[in-house]
Amino acid sequence: MTRTTAFPTPDRWPENIGSERDWGYLTEPSPRIAGRRVLYSMGKGLGGGSSINVAVWSRGHRQDWEDFAELAGDPRWNYRSMLDVYRRLETWHGDPDIERRGTEGPIHVRPAQPTHAFFSAMLDGAETVGLDRYASPNGELAERGSGCAVRDETVENVGTRRSPYRALVAPRLHQRNLTVITHAVVTEVVFDGNRAVGVKAVSEGRPVEFRAACEVVLSLGAVQTPKILLQSGIGPAGHLESLGIPVRGNLPGVGSGLDDHVLFGCVWEAGKCELPPPPRAQAVCFWGSDGRPESPKFIMYSGAAAFMSPEAAARYGRPDPAFTFLLGMRMRSRGSVRLRTADPASAPIIETGYLDDPDDVRDAVEGYRFAEVLAHSQPMSPYLGTRAVPGGVSDADVAAYLRHTASTFWHQCGTARVGTDEGAVIDAEFRVHGFDNLRIADASVLPRVTSGNTMAPCVAIGARAADLIRDRRNSVEA
Ligand SMILES: Cc1cc2nc3c(=O)[nH]c(=O)nc-3n(C[C@H](O)[C@H](O)[C@H](O)COP(=O)(O)OP(=O)(O)OC[C@H]3O[C@@H](n4cnc5c(N)ncnc54)[C@H](O)[C@@H]3O)c2cc1C
Repeated sequence: MTRTTAFPTPDRWPENIGSERDWGYLTEPSPRIAGRRVLYSMGKGLGGGSSINVAVWSRGHRQDWEDFAELAGDPRWNYRSMLDVYRRLETWHGDPDIERRGTEGPIHVRPAQPTHAFFSAMLDGAETVGLDRYASPNGELAERGSGCAVRDETVENVGTRRSPYRALVAPRLHQRNLTVITHAVVTEVVFDGNRAVGVKAVSEGRPVEFRAACEVVLSLGAVQTPKILLQSGIGPAGHLESLGIPVRGNLPGVGSGLDDHVLFGCVWEAGKCELPPPPRAQAVCFWGSDGRPESPKFIMYSGAAAFMSPEAAARYGRPDPAFTFLLGMRMRSRGSVRLRTADPASAPIIETGYLDDPDDVRDAVEGYRFAEVLAHSQPMSPYLGTRAVPGGVSDADVAAYLRHTASTFWHQCGTARVGTDEGAVIDAEFRVHGFDNLRIADASVLPRVTSGNTMAPCVAIGARAADLIRDRRNSVEA
């Protein structure tokens, strides 16, 4: 991790992509997305993704947490329980919603403001095509199958990012029981038998070892957490053996089940009306059945520019001025994170699974068609120019375009998921199966991508982990 500070305004988030604040992973080329590799950005500084991201606060749908509780075999993960966690975390600055929103927590959340007319038109258009409008994506809408709203954000004053790191960690830097070490890259967990007792790292070019006074908790994100487990000999035995890594624990789920929203930029040339300046969406739509009760398959934001892959831009042209509907879809297929070599310095092999399942292609075209109808709705007409990418063409042509532009929504998760089955890596209290003193608390533990963005669920996971660790410590000391 670096000690580089991120831009205080999330409006400059695109400048973080590919910068020193980004791990800058590249996925493996896949024929399902026209042979392309995808820049798979993840935050590298203090606070990880939360310090470089778009600052959207999206807590997940009721069904996401019901699914988590079912897999974990623990009702403490259900929606009701998670509402308590979120209420404790949040100070909500929008319309009061006592049942769902907190008023005294460290994370300040507000609706995006002031709402630009372009985003109001998007919401008006969404209503004309059948989506109900709600006061917030994190209120009643999170309990419905579809809808639209002005989105929530962790932003203060005139647009200053108030990341979870700033809200939760920075105020405690003076505490004697907290030491923050930057420029140290963890390479391996150290064990005494099956008990985790510390980690090895490389700090300023030198190998170092840190011993744990209590427990080891990995929070390295959905790529590095499985990478470190694999480097420690925990993962699919066959994969470890093929690299000559001694198997400490055969856990097939480590690095498997990589999930994300696959992102498609649906682009239209802009009309005469003025577009909003900052590259951050202020409105969001959810719709489409995900096979679970009322759990939306699609999430869509919008932006005032042509967001498309470089390959799609070269092939289809990049309209300017333009607006984009940023269409995110939950996938049937899954990807994986594997080691390329046993050398910790080597980049992992990341397979995203984007559009591997033919039904995902069909659904993606369906999602595009919804975006197309919304773009042509009456409220959007002042913003709509004449040209679309890929244009009013056949489903096969749309599918070809989507393969050329499919990318990440940066919601990587699922690579060390919760559960009690063979594919699970942790139990309901974040403990790695088969080991003592080792927990995981980050996006890796999500069994699948939540219906919205993933920062808020990760903060809730961290809060739950902190409770459990404190309870255990208190019981040991009692
Ligand atoms: C460009 C971008 C935009 C996004 N926009 C949004 C948004 O607006 N809203 C939203 O909800 N979500 C958004 N996300 C996703 C969200 O930020 C992530 O889901 C979330 O940060 C994941 O949290 P995490 O704790 O799992 O991992 P991370 O945030 O990735 O944190 C992992 C930390 O561990 C460190 N680390 C990793 N490996 C090592 C190692 N070997 N040694 C030492 N340290 C290590 C990393 O540097 C990082 O600090 C975005 C992400 C990106 C990249």
